[in-house]
Amino acid sequence: MREKSLQKIFPAFGTVNSITLYGGAGPGIAEHIKKRSLELHRRFSFFEPGSDIFRINEQAGGRPVPVHPDTLFVLSHALNYGRETKGAFDITAGAAGRLWQNALRSAKIPSEADITTCSSLNGLNDLILDEADQTAFLRRTGQQIDLGGIAKGYAADEAVRILKKYKVHNALINFGGTVIAIGREQKIGIQNPYQKNGESMGDITVKNKAVVTSGTYERGFFLDGRRYHHIIDPHTGWPTDSGLLSVTLTGGCAMELDALATALCVMGEERGLPVLDRHGIEAVFIRDSGEIRLTRGLQEKFFLKSK
Ligand code: ADP
Ligand code: MG
Repeated sequence: MREKSLQKIFPAFGTVNSITLYGGAGPGIAEHIKKRSLELHRRFSFFEPGSDIFRINEQAGGRPVPVHPDTLFVLSHALNYGRETKGAFDITAGAAGRLWQNALRSAKIPSEADITTCSSLNGLNDLILDEADQTAFLRRTGQQIDLGGIAKGYAADEAVRILKKYKVHNALINFGGTVIAIGREQKIGIQNPYQKNGESMGDITVKNKAVVTSGTYERGFFLDGRRYHHIIDPHTGWPTDSGLLSVTLTGGCAMELDALATALCVMGEERGLPVLDRHGIEAVFIRDSGEIRLTRGLQEKFFLKSK
């Protein structure tokens, strides 16, 4: 007999999100997770007027803005990941991020002057969080926060918290490639960077773990043999060129993996591995050459798809 399962799919965080519940869990639980995710989307959105992030950006150089505890929580963790990765993960690089997002859309490289101006606005030390007053403040006019590299991870962790509350034992959360396998062992596909979306190049088997992929093959274009994409090296203001096509991380906290997967795309394997070690995170790297490298804990858990 086929097992009973229920799936809910909804758009948020600029991507497609799915919740799959096994073993007869009711639709009310999936609806609860969706509602919570949309609430987080509205708090963290870069574009939606009235979101916490929108208001912080609007008041940059002006005054502190009252924000929800969810927002303060993610901002303060994001700053920590930023410091730990020596600025490779930088949520204050929003101006440079936006410049490139527009550039990618029109497949045109921005001017050097614009790149320099935007990246001069990066500054982890310019984001001031006040836990007592529950406010956030960007010191300089024009500075912009972008939680695109971490928001889905936090939302996925929140989904797990809700599932635990309802005692759902087997489920799969997939928020735009930020995946959490709950309960039984599950096979998670790793996107083949050379194929269209949804085609995996191999699987890893995980149990009660999150799996997050950041890829420099996404949302980009090629010009004169170079790839331009959506992960920006905050130190140069240009899309990263660290030798990695994609980074897949697995561990216990999706928010942490989300931030660090983005950071690793910037830092590259060599500089990034000590950070992963400190957090007990395992990784699959796909290099620009197509070569795959696994950390020790995944040697027995990765299966290359046969062609
Ligand atoms: P995806 O959103 O494609 O799953 P990521 O988690 O790597 O992938 O997030 C990429 C997003 O993070 C970008 O679209 C941008 O909003 C933001 N971003 C880009 N570069 C950085 C960076 N160096 N640090 C923090 N956020 C970044
Ligand atoms: Mg990320």
